[in-house]
Amino acid sequence: MVRYDSSIQSIFVDGKWCSAYSNQTEAVYNPATLEAITEVSYGGQKETIEAVKAAKMAFPEWSELSPRKRSNILYKASEYMLEDVDRLGTILTMEQGKPLKEAKGEVKGAASFLRWYAEEANRLYGEWIPSSNTRNRLLVIPQPIGVVGAITPWNFPSSMITRKIGPALAAGCTVVLKPAPETPLSAIEIIKILEKAGIPKGVVNLVTGNAEEIGREFLSNKDVRMITFTGSTKVGKYLMKESAEHVKKVSLELGGHAPILVFDDADLDVAAELTLGSKFRNSGQTCICANRVYVQSSIWEAFNEKLTEKVKELKLGNGLDDGTTMGPLINQQAIEKAEDHLKDATSKGAEVLFEGEKQKNDLQGYFYPPTVLGNVSGDMKVMNEETFGPIIPLQPFDDEKTAMNWANDTDYGLAAYIFTENYRRSVRVSEKLEYGIVGINEVFPARAEAPFGGIKQSGIGKEGGHYGIEEFVEHKYIASSI
Ligand code: ADP
Repeated sequence: MVRYDSSIQSIFVDGKWCSAYSNQTEAVYNPATLEAITEVSYGGQKETIEAVKAAKMAFPEWSELSPRKRSNILYKASEYMLEDVDRLGTILTMEQGKPLKEAKGEVKGAASFLRWYAEEANRLYGEWIPSSNTRNRLLVIPQPIGVVGAITPWNFPSSMITRKIGPALAAGCTVVLKPAPETPLSAIEIIKILEKAGIPKGVVNLVTGNAEEIGREFLSNKDVRMITFTGSTKVGKYLMKESAEHVKKVSLELGGHAPILVFDDADLDVAAELTLGSKFRNSGQTCICANRVYVQSSIWEAFNEKLTEKVKELKLGNGLDDGTTMGPLINQQAIEKAEDHLKDATSKGAEVLFEGEKQKNDLQGYFYPPTVLGNVSGDMKVMNEETFGPIIPLQPFDDEKTAMNWANDTDYGLAAYIFTENYRRSVRVSEKLEYGIVGINEVFPARAEAPFGGIKQSGIGKEGGHYGIEEFVEHKYIASSI
């Protein structure tokens, strides 16, 4: 069992662990038991100013280091993470709630970002542009942007961090990280791993505490050249707006409202299995998870039956217990949001096709039962707003065009999924879906080597793949005459 001291120093500035100046702390709770795991330091503006200063000081040396040397540190860190996956997974489950198997999978995914960007560090190429005359030589060189402020969410407390700081560090940027208050422990562990891997002081810094104060300092401090954020569309819009003052670069991974389209030519077993995986992984608290499912009328009953049978098998419980396939939600507000969406849907005529057992007596945490809804309509919250909980609404459609119009009728544009065995249809529909990511008979698209990111109000920029590192560089154009 992993144990934490009742209080730990969680602020890491210029290579030193410290408490908040105020000595204030904040508890971290296990959402499955409601027990406090530990207290972490509650920093704010003062600590952020120092962290940015340290990151600025460290920037020249880090950015001028050979890419191979930066790569070696990231590579070592990824190896250390993999060696420690059991303990890191346990910590992640304790603070976030997801089943241990999912947590370990996330840690492995987190390590894969460090490894991928250890490799990409060596492949940041520039360009030689043929000049229109014989006198000039035109070059483009990639250079790291500078100090990066990274703000991460609680739903993937490990991989969302490495997906940002991996490419930032590989490119030669220095970083100040602000993790979600619900899940600071995975962040602390990642910083410790980087420390062990030999990251120079000041290159990566961590400030836990007051989100508004830390965020405000990121925005107002001219030395922070870029803000990379994963979280709600509301906070993302605020950061983007305020970044205008100093014309900071922003990279935003925001909310989604993913549709799944199940066509009558789909393999229904695969479609039901993956729809379940997409919706109920992390208890539905994933920005790319299915929020609404459109099913072609001719297979409506067959699909519903298969899906509901699978939903019935989900086992709600503490993620650390054997056999648990679905953990709690993160907090009381998450429960209230799911309840509100359910109430809104049923008051407008939705039918509850299945509702898992209500909170069992021995489950003290923020548990919400898996729920399947039929007879839904486009005016319900669940069909328009991110539920971020384990409620799955199903709606029948007659033809491809209608399904696509419904799928695209949203301000979000992160991920969409289709199930079909018809190749032509899969290409045709994928091209028309207004989303940054489309899954064809696939619902787990996130991986280190591929670009992840939304369009419309789901965000700006890509994380993953060679696209991910390019977010952290400026392309300098050098014109010369010979
Ligand atoms: P959620 O509602 O899912 O927690 P948020 O967008 O509120 O999504 O949180 C994502 C991250 O953004 C967290 O690290 C959170 O602390 C941080 N955050 C929330 N509000 C602000 C803010 N005003 N400035 C900077 N960061 C913020």
